Amino acid sequence: MDNTDVRSWDNTHFVHPWEGMSALGQNERTFVETARGIHIFNGNGDRLIDGPGGMWCTQIGYGREEMAEAMAEQARQLAYFSPFSNTNSIAARFARELARRSPGDLNHVFFTTGGSTAVDSALRFVQFRNNLLGRPEKKIVITRQKAYHGSTYLAAGVSGKERDRLWLDKADQFAHFLPDVNPLYRGEGQSIEEFLEEKIVDLENAILTLGADRVAAFIAEPILASGGVIVPPKGYHRRCLEVCRRHDVLYISDEVVTAFGRLGHWFASEDVFGIRPDIITCAKGLTSGYAPMGATLISDRLIADVAGRDATFSNGYTYSGHPVCAAAGLTSMEIIEREGILEHVRTVAPVFQERLHDLSRIGIVTDTRGMGLMGCVQCSLDGDKHSALKADYDIGARIDAECQKRGLLVRPIVNMCVMSPPLIITEDQVHQMFDILEEGIRAAEQCDG
Ligand code: PLP
Repeated sequence: MDNTDVRSWDNTHFVHPWEGMSALGQNERTFVETARGIHIFNGNGDRLIDGPGGMWCTQIGYGREEMAEAMAEQARQLAYFSPFSNTNSIAARFARELARRSPGDLNHVFFTTGGSTAVDSALRFVQFRNNLLGRPEKKIVITRQKAYHGSTYLAAGVSGKERDRLWLDKADQFAHFLPDVNPLYRGEGQSIEEFLEEKIVDLENAILTLGADRVAAFIAEPILASGGVIVPPKGYHRRCLEVCRRHDVLYISDEVVTAFGRLGHWFASEDVFGIRPDIITCAKGLTSGYAPMGATLISDRLIADVAGRDATFSNGYTYSGHPVCAAAGLTSMEIIEREGILEHVRTVAPVFQERLHDLSRIGIVTDTRGMGLMGCVQCSLDGDKHSALKADYDIGARIDAECQKRGLLVRPIVNMCVMSPPLIITEDQVHQMFDILEEGIRAAEQCDG
């Protein structure tokens, strides 16, 4: 196929997520025809390591015959049936497998079409439960600056990335935002412990000020992913959960990115951060990106509050529990288990993190942070961690361009590059990836303008 045709169709007809209007119709996007393992092949046939792992989602890597077979077989058997008053056996089986691997009593699975709809469904369930419990005023959701929870109206309403809030209306009446939890921006002379204390007080004060009778839930990504891989101080999640429990506020852990092995465990909430939330939202790695699907896992305790009542949870999708997506999810899970991918991540992650932190030797790198197979390099042309927030918007894009020339795709977010490769990446490939990233950053540093 002619690259020029594809570019023209793309520019003329395909409106992309986060489409920038200034370059509308004139983009030079990398387009991908095929992918295998951790590599993508662009329109020129160049092979690149997929640094962002699709969009934090290609856990088991690309081009798995077994996945294609399982999905094709399910499509032949039963491609679709309405989930509203009927069910299908593969989705029921997938729900059971998810419940078996989830923390605590999160045994109820509401299937959605992706992460945004999983968050949306979680928030709507929280509203539903409080309405049924006779406390309709308990609706506010406490969230954090730089959080990203999705693109539906409700999920966007609790998302706190400022640049995303410029041009669209938000369901803000339900949301209360807490300040940044990035320890990089703690006060002058403030220790990490003092910073943690401040964050916990922020949460408790917000609940007390708004009134515990009006605050329904706290929602948090274990690691703020597209906000720039922000890892809150140690103990943060456990302390937040304690505050929530004290005030009868539900804890929603948004594991759309962190579940299914990204941090070396099925779910990070309990195994990495030691908490059992009331609700977990997940998507992405749920099917390793082979099919669009999300899930909202709800605890037995919350379900018991609504079970048996004369009410309907009027929320759902034509494609909830879609059989082909469920087949993809189950097969991906089987592959992760059979190939010991969770253990593999725990082995390779220290190498990944060491190489990531090594990049801080480069002059324009102002911070490196991450956990598991998630990493972020933050840059500023003047080496100042604060100025980078205001200026140098194109550094990330420049690094990406330099890396692509050398065989690595990175995901630029303003002045940051985030990395979350397929979980099957080997130690050698991790070295290869960071060798290229280092060269790319140094090249971008040379061509400052
Ligand atoms: N929640 C988190 C933490 C995410 O990172 C994302 C997407 O990046 C979402 C929710 C939304 O997921 P989706 O794009 O599948 O709707």
